[in-house]
Amino acid sequence: MNGADFFLVVNFLIGLSFAVVFLIVSTRSRSRIAARWIAAAYAIASFSTISELLVAHTEFVKFFALTAFATVLAGLLLIRIGIGRLYGVPASPAPLIVFYGIALVLDLIVYELPRGTWVHSFSYQTPFALAIFFSATAVLRSSRRAPIDRAIACLLFMTGFMFIAKAAAAVLLGAGATAKDYVHSYYALVSQSSTGVFVVLVGLMLLSVFVLEIMAQERSNSEVDALSEVLNRRGFDNHCDMRLRRLPGPHALILCDLDHFKKINDTYGHYSGDCVIRAFADLLKASAPENAVVGRLGGEEFCVLLPGVPADAALMFAQAVRGSFAMQVLPGMPSSFRMTASFGVATFQAAGELSVAVRNADAALYEAKASGRNCVRLYRERGTTPLIVVSDNHGTAQ
Ligand code: GH3
Ligand code: MG
Ligand code: MG
Repeated sequence: MNGADFFLVVNFLIGLSFAVVFLIVSTRSRSRIAARWIAAAYAIASFSTISELLVAHTEFVKFFALTAFATVLAGLLLIRIGIGRLYGVPASPAPLIVFYGIALVLDLIVYELPRGTWVHSFSYQTPFALAIFFSATAVLRSSRRAPIDRAIACLLFMTGFMFIAKAAAAVLLGAGATAKDYVHSYYALVSQSSTGVFVVLVGLMLLSVFVLEIMAQERSNSEVDALSEVLNRRGFDNHCDMRLRRLPGPHALILCDLDHFKKINDTYGHYSGDCVIRAFADLLKASAPENAVVGRLGGEEFCVLLPGVPADAALMFAQAVRGSFAMQVLPGMPSSFRMTASFGVATFQAAGELSVAVRNADAALYEAKASGRNCVRLYRERGTTPLIVVSDNHGTAQ
């Protein structure tokens, strides 16, 4: 086994290893189809190295030379499909198939030309370069602009240019007088080692995209309440921090608590109670403005942050939700059944005052419960004397 043989075997193992890793990643990733296309790309392309070895060591030179070309190109085009799925820039199969067909015919023609010429080398390598440029431009066309995405696009362009550089190197260094001689040429060493480096770099970079996506997904899952599908306490706190950063006040915070909820569980069962919790969360999500943060802080208690919203608008919002909920027919409940909720509203100026606002909104909510429930109360402090301003369940504020 000479040096190039050795690189071919190493590249084969690297390609197969990446195929397996992408398959494993596909079991956890939201972009599982993309990961499977990329796994298939690595698996197919890795077999080009076996074809190269068979060119050198069997008599079926032309057949295996064409197979080597066909498998590399198929792998590169499958990468384009995988990247398209990952980046939301789907590839249309028809143009790719036409491109593949033309490239194969070109390769058949080129095979008969003398090796080591500019025409032969460029005709051989250009389809590879173009196929990888398709992927690079797909990443650039996508809406994703994170540093890792820029890096991937850059690396794919560099990989495309590596194929062009390989064409020049084949002419300058000599790629062997026949396809069979290729594996014994110095160029084969340069070609296989540089391909190996780019195969690893592109594979690792794509893996990073999947891993980052899985991590973001896990983080977001850990911040969402499974029953109501609004944020849990941790998610609510994190999102409030992000939303309030650099945004000037006033902001409003509304605490909501379902009235006599325990009776629902006792009378209709826990499952019906869950349905009511979900219905209230749905109403909050549907009513809240886009930049609001909605969370379930526990049990049947919810919290809404309205960034940049003053007290009067927050009161109107709470009244609207209160009114809608009080009229709503609830899933899993008799059609005549109605449920109510109480609301405590507090306003604050700076992000650092959020926890104080929660305390104040809780005091206002307590007041709403004490005032007979199904109403909204606003907390307001004047001087050192806390003052609860009443917004009653007929919608008037004093
Ligand atoms: P109030 O009007 O004073 O708020 O009375 P309440 O009955 O709504 O409040 P209380 O705190 O006494 O009872 C809340 C109940 O909510 C007790 C608990 O069993 C129930 N609960 C908490 N979490 C869940 C849940 O996830 N699902 C269901 N079905 N019930 C829950
Ligand atoms: Mg309650
Ligand atoms: Mg409660």
